[in-house]
Amino acid sequence: MGMSEHFFKPIEMAHEIVRSRVRVGDTVIDATLGGGADLVFLSGCVGGDGKVIGFDVQVEAVERSRARLGHRDRVELHAVGHERMAEFVESEVAAVMFNLGYLPGGDKSVITQTETTLAALEVATSLLRPNGVATVVCYPGHADGDSEAAAVLDWVADLPQEKFAVLRYGFVNQRNAPPFLIAVERCA
Ligand code: SAH
Repeated sequence: MGMSEHFFKPIEMAHEIVRSRVRVGDTVIDATLGGGADLVFLSGCVGGDGKVIGFDVQVEAVERSRARLGHRDRVELHAVGHERMAEFVESEVAAVMFNLGYLPGGDKSVITQTETTLAALEVATSLLRPNGVATVVCYPGHADGDSEAAAVLDWVADLPQEKFAVLRYGFVNQRNAPPFLIAVERCA
């Protein structure tokens, strides 16, 4: 490897940003459970008094995530699309994490879809508390991920800067359209 070993990958930067905003006792959302890595991370951020609400359309992903985390009281996982997250969330949240694309080692035909991703982003940004953050890791190098990533960029670019700060982070000199991170912070 070269210099890239010294920089955060997009998913690592997402964790840095979320860690800097989330406190013990907060409520947070994992919008794409997948293999459960972000769930474990979020659960550690909010501690036993905090609450994590997770979504994935695949039962397999929910089960894998639950198994990876182990038993935790205030963790609610739903085999439901993230576009419906408002039905399951009662308060403002400190963070919402999205990791788009397909479940590694799972059914690669089940991938996030532009229409539902944008619908979920709309809800997620409306649920953020002041200084809350939403992170989205986009995969323009995956099949269909390219148009989805472009649509996410277009959508966040239109968020009013008086209400949200939007950042894009990713390697600019890698081959094959590497993943990048979008982070949205609700202004205080
Ligand atoms: N691409 C990442 C992993 C992403 S996992 C990587 O390579 O590490 C993305 C998850 O989103 C999958 O488990 C998939 O089932 C889930 N998903 C697809 N559509 C969804 C939706 N509408 N709501 C919630 N989860 C969804």
